Parts: sequence; C-alpha cells; structure tokens
Amino acid sequence: MRLALLGMSHETNTFSRVPATYDRFSIHRGHEIVQQFGESHTTNAGFLEIGERPDVDVVPLMFASTGPIGTITSDAFERIVGELLDLLRDNGPWDGVLLSLHGAAVSERRPDADGEITARVRDLVGPDVPVGMTLDLHGNVTQKMIANTTVATFYRSNPHLDPRPRALECAELIVRTINGEIRPVQALEMPPVVINIVKQFTGEEPMASVIRDCETAIQRQGILTASVAEGYPYSDVEEMGMSFLAVADGDESAARDAVRWMARRAWGMREQFVVDTPSPEEALRQAMAEDEGPVVLMDVGDNIGGGSSADSTVILAAAQRLGVTSFLQSLYDPEAVAHCVESGVGSEVTLDVGGKTDDMHGSPVRVTGRVRAMTDGLYEDPNPTHGGWRYYDGGTTVVLETTDGHTLLLTSERTGNTTREQMYSAGIMPERFKIVVAKGVVSPRPAYQPIASRIILVNSPGVTTSDLSFFTYHRRRVPLYPFEEDAAY
Ligand SMILES: [Zn+2]
Repeated sequence: MRLALLGMSHETNTFSRVPATYDRFSIHRGHEIVQQFGESHTTNAGFLEIGERPDVDVVPLMFASTGPIGTITSDAFERIVGELLDLLRDNGPWDGVLLSLHGAAVSERRPDADGEITARVRDLVGPDVPVGMTLDLHGNVTQKMIANTTVATFYRSNPHLDPRPRALECAELIVRTINGEIRPVQALEMPPVVINIVKQFTGEEPMASVIRDCETAIQRQGILTASVAEGYPYSDVEEMGMSFLAVADGDESAARDAVRWMARRAWGMREQFVVDTPSPEEALRQAMAEDEGPVVLMDVGDNIGGGSSADSTVILAAAQRLGVTSFLQSLYDPEAVAHCVESGVGSEVTLDVGGKTDDMHGSPVRVTGRVRAMTDGLYEDPNPTHGGWRYYDGGTTVVLETTDGHTLLLTSERTGNTTREQMYSAGIMPERFKIVVAKGVVSPRPAYQPIASRIILVNSPGVTTSDLSFFTYHRRRVPLYPFEEDAAY
C-alpha cells in the first residue's frame, strides 16, 4: 500500500502587511521531511508513523510552510502547488494521499487556498483514491475542503500538543478505507459564530466543554471520528469562524446528526466566546499588586504565532511610564541587535528598540542599558511544545539590561515565546522576574504556565488584537456572532 505525503501549511493573517512570498516558505522534499519532522510531534510525524507498518509505505513528497504572515502571493501559491501536484503525478499511482495542511491559507486569487489544493489533488487522483487531511484547530474550514477529502481530522488541543496523534488517526482511517473495512462519509456544520482568540485555550471553559462534546460525539453509534475547528479570526474569508466535522461509517445521517448536535451545543454557549481583557496599564498594575512572580502577561495584540510583528512595544512603553521594574520581554529588532553587537558585550548603549515593522504595534522606545550577552540565537526544546517544533533560530540575539530595570531579549528573527529555552540559552532565568511578557495567547502556555504565579491576557493593540472591532472585514459572512449580535442559527 503506497500513500503519498504532501502539503502546504499556512495560517494567513490577511491583515498583516508582510506578504507570504515564495522565498519566505521553507520547503522540505523527500527524505528531508523525515529528517526534519520524523522525530517531532507534528502532523507530518503522525503521517510518517503509519509507514512503520509492514504493509504501508508512506512516500514523503514535499511540504512547504512559513510562519503566520500575510496573504500568499499568487506566484508563491502556483509555484508551490504546481510542484506538489507534479510530484504527486510523477510518483503515482497511489492507494491513498495524506495532506498536511493548516486550514487557514489565503492566496491572492484563491481565498480558499486549502480548498483549492484539495480540489486539485482530487482532480488528479480521481474520485476513488482516499484522501486524508489533518488541519490545525485554527482552520477556517470550507465545504470545498471536505467535499474533496475522504477523512479529515483537526487538532483537538490548543496549545497544539496533539498534531501527531490526530494525523496518525487520520492515516489509520485512510488505511482502513483502502482495505475496504470502512466507508467514511463526512458532514461539516458551520454555525455563524466566531470565538475570540483569548477564549480558545482548550484547558479552560468554554472550549473545554466544546472539546468534551466532540469526544462524546465520537462515541456515538457509527461515528469514526469528529473534530471542531476554532477558526482563525484574522483571515478575512467567507468561512471565517467555528466549524464542526463528523465522519461516519457509511451513514450520512449519523454524521449529520452528530455534527448538528455539537454545533447546536456550542451555539448555546456563544456568549462565553466573547471576552473583556485588561488594557496594558491595567494588566501591569494587577501584576505589580501580586505578591509573587513571575506574572506572565500575554501580549495578545502581538501574537507572533498569529502573524504579528514580534516587535510590539506597547507593554514595554507602559512599563516604562509606570516605573515597573523586574520586567522581561523579547523584541524582534535586527537593527538594534546590530547596534549592540557593534558596541560589544559590556558596553553601554542608548537606542530605540522595537515598533519598527509597522504602525500597529507601538512606536520605537528609547532605552539606555548595558549589553549583557550575545548568542547565535539557536536553541532546542525536545519536550512537546506548541505545534511540536524542536529546533529554533532567533538569529543573532542580544541581552540588554536597561536603566529602567528591564531585561530585553533582542532577536534578529521573528521568534515566539513558546519555550523557556529561548531565555535559558541566553543566560536569562525568567523565574527570577516579577513580570514576564509572552507574545501570544495560548502558544506560550506550555512554556510559561509551569513557572507563572498568574497569567494575564492583555488587550494590547496589534494585528492579532482580541478586539476584533479593530479590523475592517470585506469577505466574512453576515450575520456572524458577535459582530451581529442578532445572528441566528
Ligand atoms: Zn493553530
């Protein structure tokens, strides 16, 4: 049994001004996929794992991915998908296909980029070859994606600690389909509702209940698997929002009933999907009032994993104004890094840091301080982290201790705060600070929850702000809750 493994993974923040051009994608081909992902916790690892069975041969063809930045250019989309399809055609025939997608990819001329990929794959292999697809929990799922696949599974945990088992589950169902043991039918339900990004942590309500419902639905008679997508509110596409999927064995009405039950229950909880979070000043005051540190402030507006600039200075500027000390945060600022490198370790510098990518994430902040350390920015975390990544590259990195009592980790690459190794590798112990800023909403939790005395989600402005009224949507459905409070389902 030969299964093709291929995909393109992108979470497109259509409000970001950084286009996803071809050269921004990292592309792995053939055995490179095994080398890069084989030992990880990613979707690709789960797909590769099914190949360990004696009767199953998984052939890794190509996987392209890039961080969550702006819209994929038509050039990048056509070149990448063109090569994916060429490889699929030239190495066939196949017994099955495994697609490693994100589910929130948007290309200039193809707003439903993932749907387009599934359609072209289906077109190429024909109607009888089972196609499996595993998506991120943040996928904006479309009927086109479901119509062109045989079995889809989505991650069920946010932070994403389960891409590998979800992909393996998908691959197992594809193998059973090929063997003629099951005949999957899928049903997708899309109630008109968006869940705010700060309510998307599956370890807390309301998502804990939504996931529990999904697990209950899986136990229903005739259901093979079921999934929930939280959706990605920063992709301005028609299908933006939550969706529910059930896969039944031959029984379409069982799939339909299960998915409607899940969607109806979630719809009933919609008032819990909306949220109020404190402003940066208010969050800093709350943090200072705590007896113990570190209090971790989630910089929601600068959620690097969601496509933001990684150089927001909004919380830093507020900390300066309020005289907050024992404060740690990272900033993407290659210019400031170069300046510090030139001055040398131990030297004192005065310079403007952060706020340089665009005008949505604060202005550069003037600081004076001592260059404490310099590293190559490479670090590794073998433990499960958000998305299952292991190797990180922050580029040349500098530690700056400012006269304000702040420690700044200045990086040359846009890197999230998803592992404490980022700090340890530069000689910083985040445990010793009163206040630590983590850029993100959920992805920094596996790293910082274990050491945090408290976590505060901050309503900071930016391209990933939790305040969705900040954005002008052109393509989303109307009505859609909570934009239209009278939306009906
Ligand atoms: Zn995600």
